[in-house]
Amino acid sequence: MVFKIVLLFLVFMGVLAWFGKMHWIGGKRFSQTKCRSCGRYRIGKGPCSCGGKS
Ligand SMILES: [Zn+2]
Repeated sequence: MVFKIVLLFLVFMGVLAWFGKMHWIGGKRFSQTKCRSCGRYRIGKGPCSCGGKS
């Protein structure tokens, strides 16, 4: 019984960590790829098509 609870807790923590990691990576990527002048998402590392400063 106790082993079952510990196992469930470990799985829960693992899922939480996985989701946190995914959210963190996604947020960082989006903040880096978003244009600062027009707010649109840029594709690749080049400057935005609007001509504004990246
Ligand atoms: Zn732009």
